[in-house]
Amino acid sequence: MKELEINHVYKDYNLSNKTKFNALNDICVSFDKGELVSIIGESGSGKSTLMNLIGGLDSDYSGEIKIGGIDLKTFKEKQLDDYRKKKIGFVFQSFNLIPHLSILDNVTIALTLSDVKESVKLEKAKAILKKLGLENQLKKKPTQLSGGQKQRVAIARALMNDPDIILADEPTGSLDSQTTLQILNIMKEIADEGKLVIMVTHSEKVASISSRIVEIADGKIVDDRQNENYKKDNLKQDKLVTTDSNANVKKKEKHLSFISALRLSLHNMWASRTKNFLMALGVTISLISMILMLAFGSGLTSYIDSLASSYSSPTIVTINKKTSSADNPMGAIMDLISPQSFTDEEIDEVVNQINTYLSQQHSEIDYTVNKEQLGKGYSIMTSASAGNANIEFQLGEDTKKSDIFYLYSTPPYYGEEQLLAGKLSKGESLDEETGETVGEVMLSSKIATEMGLESIEEALGKIVTVNVNYSINDVLVNIQQKCKITGIVNVNMFKDSLILYIDYDYLESLVNEQGATLSPTALYINTDNENTTNIINNFLSTTDNYTGSVENQMANMFSEMMSTFSVALAIIAGISLIVAMIMILVVLYMSVSERTREIGVLKSIGARKHDIKKIFTTESFLIGLFSGFVGIVFSAVVGGILILLFNSLLGFAPLSFRWYYFALALLLSVIISILAGLYPASKAAKLDPVESLRHE
Ligand code: ADP
Ligand code: MG
Repeated sequence: MKELEINHVYKDYNLSNKTKFNALNDICVSFDKGELVSIIGESGSGKSTLMNLIGGLDSDYSGEIKIGGIDLKTFKEKQLDDYRKKKIGFVFQSFNLIPHLSILDNVTIALTLSDVKESVKLEKAKAILKKLGLENQLKKKPTQLSGGQKQRVAIARALMNDPDIILADEPTGSLDSQTTLQILNIMKEIADEGKLVIMVTHSEKVASISSRIVEIADGKIVDDRQNENYKKDNLKQDKLVTTDSNANVKKKEKHLSFISALRLSLHNMWASRTKNFLMALGVTISLISMILMLAFGSGLTSYIDSLASSYSSPTIVTINKKTSSADNPMGAIMDLISPQSFTDEEIDEVVNQINTYLSQQHSEIDYTVNKEQLGKGYSIMTSASAGNANIEFQLGEDTKKSDIFYLYSTPPYYGEEQLLAGKLSKGESLDEETGETVGEVMLSSKIATEMGLESIEEALGKIVTVNVNYSINDVLVNIQQKCKITGIVNVNMFKDSLILYIDYDYLESLVNEQGATLSPTALYINTDNENTTNIINNFLSTTDNYTGSVENQMANMFSEMMSTFSVALAIIAGISLIVAMIMILVVLYMSVSERTREIGVLKSIGARKHDIKKIFTTESFLIGLFSGFVGIVFSAVVGGILILLFNSLLGFAPLSFRWYYFALALLLSVIISILAGLYPASKAAKLDPVESLRHE
């Protein structure tokens, strides 16, 4: 039994127009170990075709090709991959080295596909490269070597797996005569060490050095002769192929490991780093928009929630008057700054409207608003009206003073968050020191600090003088009233405002003393029931002249704006994610065609479809990871800048970042990259090895 037996092999190429081209016609030949065979013949005679069949790169033929007595046809895909990997070493005319890998990596890659231990791999590659005189070239890239050197690297790669058969398709075709001789001697050495070397050539000189010459013409063997002058050289001590370290290698039956795939991909990515970085930037834009969308979404929501909850108790209905322009945010803001007063008739009207509505539409809740029990509220932006208002107290020689921008009646309800300390101001109180009756006021924390009352303890109980000069219902009032500070208020929305709170009835009595009358700008109904509150609030939002609290109205308006805004951002983020995905797909797809030849080489040295897929998928995974990181960093920077900007412009930032937005962005980036890489990866895996090797 010969090492390689070829019996009645026919090969037809399918041409496009359903005709066939017969490239090999009844080939019968066998070869044994230790032979150095030259296959000669005219260009187009079928030499390469035969080599591809022997090498297991092309399985589409008829007839028998037996290796060690086993027919190649019986091999499953996996066995064929293993056959290429372990039994065959390929050497090509155009060297087919992988340009972005170093010489050493180009050689070790043969074992990388078998997942051999790194140290074993390196040791072996260095040993072989040394014997081929390349020990000083390990770190170089293929383009930095001469033709003869490149071919020696290719031979080293072919020898890495200790194959039984070396197939060399015109290995000296691109070399000058001197280097040709060098390569031939190496080939002879390999054969003399007991391997079968089959070499395609059309040089008579090359053929004359080999032990046997087989001539092909038009797909047929026309001559097969032994070379009488061939001398086997068995004396060489320093063998090219060291079998002891092979023992290590052959035991392992694993394939390309993830780490090796990672290394290969990193090499690839580094080789085209500019392209990859630009692509990552593209993905980054979509990630930034996504993260910002989430940050704005949650930031605005919590801000608006805090706005809306500032005033509202779930059981209290606040009624404000609505101006015609209140349906847009600016109108609502105007209503908030300078609210309109209710006349008595209007109070009757709104109470009647509510009661009618309740009795007709919601008889089930059996609730009627009692006009006598309505709470009243008053608010004015004193700084915007003619006149002024301030608050002061005497500290030794100093007068501590603050302007009052907003004068509010004590709201019927303040939660703990809003009432920072103390209690709600209610009417009158007693000044213990003088025995005088004084009013009660609450201050916004801003007024307290303005007057130099830094600590709450200092502020609470302090007697101050409140001066208010402005016109109410066309009567200029001039109030000068001693008051005791009963509470410090801190409402999110008005954090930085100078607000004084005073009881409505008490303020009314002060105004009345001045000969003016106070009309409420807000009405409060305490329903003691959340459901009823909601029903009335909903009803108010349908009326023309009244509204629930202006704050609520604004909050609702902003919520609406925000959801529109979020949807817009989500659409932008979604579109840009899709664009990013297409971009990755295109880049990877292009990379597949750029690296078609490389894929062919990998397949010729035994890469399985799965390995190729793994390399490309790993690459898309890395691209996703890398883009994700770049995206996160950029988003954090952009987010930080936005927060600073908003804080300096508005005093608050309507965006809040959570760690999981970044995690989500990273995850999404990896997922879309891997998805985008699926198609190119499977395309690469499916490439036909023979065609890829021929690819220019
Ligand atoms: P050689 O290597 O001896 O120059 P090849 O084995 O490459 O010749 O080709 C043998 C014949 O088969 C040539 O005529 C060539 O045109 C043809 N051939 C090779 N590959 C293909 C292919 N993929 N499709 C069609 N014809 C092909
Ligand atoms: Mg050829």
